[in-house]
Amino acid sequence: MIIEVEEIVLKFTNYYKSLNYSILDDDSIITDDPTLLFINSTIARVKEEIQVGENLDSTAIVQQCFRNNMTDYMMFTMLGVASLATEANRVMKDWINFIKEVGNIPEDNLFAVIHSQDGMLIDLWKKTISRPYYTLDQNTDKYTVRWKYGECYDFYGVGMSLAYIHPNRPKCNDSCDFFCDCDRHLALGNFIIINNPIINKQYIDIGFGVERLLSYKNGIDYFNFESNKKNLLGVISLGLNKEDAKYILSFMKGIKKLVEEGIVPGNKKQGYILKSLIKKIVINIAKYNKSSLFDDITKVLVMQDPSYKLYINDIQCYLQKYYNNYKKNIDSAKKFLKVNSGMGSTELMYILQDRFGVPYNIVMDADNTITYK
Ligand SMILES: [Zn+2]
Repeated sequence: MIIEVEEIVLKFTNYYKSLNYSILDDDSIITDDPTLLFINSTIARVKEEIQVGENLDSTAIVQQCFRNNMTDYMMFTMLGVASLATEANRVMKDWINFIKEVGNIPEDNLFAVIHSQDGMLIDLWKKTISRPYYTLDQNTDKYTVRWKYGECYDFYGVGMSLAYIHPNRPKCNDSCDFFCDCDRHLALGNFIIINNPIINKQYIDIGFGVERLLSYKNGIDYFNFESNKKNLLGVISLGLNKEDAKYILSFMKGIKKLVEEGIVPGNKKQGYILKSLIKKIVINIAKYNKSSLFDDITKVLVMQDPSYKLYINDIQCYLQKYYNNYKKNIDSAKKFLKVNSGMGSTELMYILQDRFGVPYNIVMDADNTITYK
């Protein structure tokens, strides 16, 4: 059976409640923190306490996170634990047990990646679990061992990446190891010791994504999850290709979250992000030349996921507005092309993008009509 995100979140809070941790339930992604546009980690919830050196109960944290640089994981659910570093032994042990017992990842598939200078973490790992660890001297694309927390904060983090060996992926070649770029070895989450040198205090911060935890069973494609798969099939059945459908659904999820948080499209901060997501979706749908798709896609979403219901009118209205603008821009671009047909194609592409918002993946036929690749 495929386990869904909500199920793991519930098991996570129950698990940590039973161990007498405090619980911080999921909260808004909007923040006052000037260094962040959105909450995009669990630690963001307790940064102020750590900055001023407050004592912190061992706390399990659930937080939906928004990252604007990804498609599949634009919205994802992060689970975390924050505590004083004096609790490090217990917190590490409880976390590894959670990964094994609730995450269903066998101990034999786990390993750690630790900075070569972090002897204390290496000792902690060896005390907790009889599994190998590998060392690095700096962060890599795959594993993080050092953290910074933004300009306004005095503390920094040293820590380890917990990772697993995927059961269904054989070595991609003879030298395939934890370092390899393939998906056999995947980072699962981080255990970080936060040092605040100003007040000479240390904290623990654990963070891991639910989707990544579930990928051990479900595969790394986010659209393998049951609810996402249904959405995907629904949108594909409207005539969209799979890649476009995935792209649109990821962005739609981000749009819904922002609308739900009361953001309106605009030219500043969060409003600008919302506006750019809407534009991306409009351009993607427009190339199918079927304006009914806007309604049809939103209908699929409401049918598969009733939580869209409250926001769908706003979303449709925004999409329609930007679609109308986009059509006007395309018409203006066509007129521009007619009178400037002598211009070099690189320069033309640039002007079309810059002045009319026509995307680069558009091609112009010999008679200067605009089509899509
Ligand atoms: Zn490999």
